[in-house]
Amino acid sequence: MTSNGLERGIRKNGFKGAIRRGIPMSEITSFRIGGPADLVLYPRDLEELNIVRALCRDQGFSYLLLGNGTNLLVADKGVREPLINLSHGFKEIKKQGHKVMAGAGAGLPQLLNFCTANALGGLEPLAGIPGTVGGGIRMNAGSWGAEIGAMISSLLVMDGAGETRWVKRSQVAFGYRGIDLPAEDIILQGEFALHKGKRDEIKNRMEEFLRKKKETQPLFQPSAGSIFKNPPAIPAGRLIEEAGLKGTRRGDAMISPLHANFIVNMGAARARDVLGLIELIRQRIYKEKRIKLELEVLIIGEQALA
Ligand SMILES: Cc1cc2nc3c(=O)[nH]c(=O)nc-3n(C[C@H](O)[C@H](O)[C@H](O)COP(=O)(O)OP(=O)(O)OC[C@H]3O[C@@H](n4cnc5c(N)ncnc54)[C@H](O)[C@@H]3O)c2cc1C
Repeated sequence: MTSNGLERGIRKNGFKGAIRRGIPMSEITSFRIGGPADLVLYPRDLEELNIVRALCRDQGFSYLLLGNGTNLLVADKGVREPLINLSHGFKEIKKQGHKVMAGAGAGLPQLLNFCTANALGGLEPLAGIPGTVGGGIRMNAGSWGAEIGAMISSLLVMDGAGETRWVKRSQVAFGYRGIDLPAEDIILQGEFALHKGKRDEIKNRMEEFLRKKKETQPLFQPSAGSIFKNPPAIPAGRLIEEAGLKGTRRGDAMISPLHANFIVNMGAARARDVLGLIELIRQRIYKEKRIKLELEVLIIGEQALA
């Protein structure tokens, strides 16, 4: 079945949410790179999400979840798998005592604003991470030694068969930029166990973390955040900087002069330019230090090379 057939089937089953066809991924990812996505589906509630999930599965399509697209390098030829985005629903943020429940489609910045407004502390080090709650949990996003997984008390997940279940923190393993959930599981909501604090102090802490980030990272240029995971002994950025690679370019892709673990898009960079820089860095660091750098950024799309 083609993606047109899939779209028709989804509509026929009662899906009334938005569907975008052929949208350039360069328009919906922070790297501003990537060819067209055949189909992006925006379910507004559980019922619509289940229609999409079931039809994809029945027709042999493996779907991918798309958050804010801030940790992705998308192939120049684009993406053939249907993408599911939860930003047209699944965005509610509410609190119960010191717990906050946040929908997977909500932005992490919105969640942080909510916490500040309600004087709930714990998530401040995540200030400046531009992803969604769902993407943040899937990646176990973190900064300044703190990770989102440490603040989670439970997760609401839909599995590949369409069952929704609450998963306790103790039932999943959060690791360095990842969580051990099956690939087809869809994160619907996160419950965060926070602590009562003073609104001004929480706000000041967030601003301080954000200020440090702005000073040290190219937050205002298109990128996908850190390209490599930090090896145990030394940050990837320092290794790349010490190898003299800051400012190196392939086409419009450049190793950031501000932070060497960021590759920035200077205008019309292609995925293949970024992949060229990734290969160059990996080879150089292996040759000089015998360290194999692992990717933090996820590569998706047709003929994706990892
Ligand atoms: C300027 C900049 C700074 C950054 N700084 C940091 C940082 O300090 N720390 C850090 O950890 N990261 C950082 N990042 C990377 C990125 O913001 C995080 O990894 C973020 O958590 C990704 O969220 P997203 O919604 O954009 O996910 P996407 O990039 O859209 O997707 C990432 C992964 O999550 C999956 N996913 C998304 N939603 C769901 C869902 N509902 N259920 C299941 N899976 C889902 C996707 O399928 C994909 O596998 C930065 C990025 C940029 C551009």
